[in-house]
Amino acid sequence: MLQEFFRGFIRIHILHHAEEAPIYGLQMAGELARHGYENLSPGTLYPTLHGLEGAGYLVSQRTLDAGRWHRYYTLTPKGKEILRHVRTKLRELAGEVLEQRG
Ligand SMILES: [Zn+2]
Repeated sequence: MLQEFFRGFIRIHILHHAEEAPIYGLQMAGELARHGYENLSPGTLYPTLHGLEGAGYLVSQRTLDAGRWHRYYTLTPKGKEILRHVRTKLRELAGEVLEQRG
């Protein structure tokens, strides 16, 4: 069940970083591990990237980088739009859920 929640967090995280700069799978796996999503398998990450691309939020391009091929993902205008929408909802949710409790 926890994985169900994290799947959404991971998608948001991927879109956020793809907005800053093009990202590739292995780099994103490292970034997510840094945030504590350590047991994220390629079997989860790659389908997530493909799914986000299939939905039109990311676009990918194979690039030769220092002798190694990487598939770099970039945020599309549609991805920017959904990320803006998600940020609004996230701010609203965090405001309520993370509110200091007596
Ligand atoms: Zn991050």
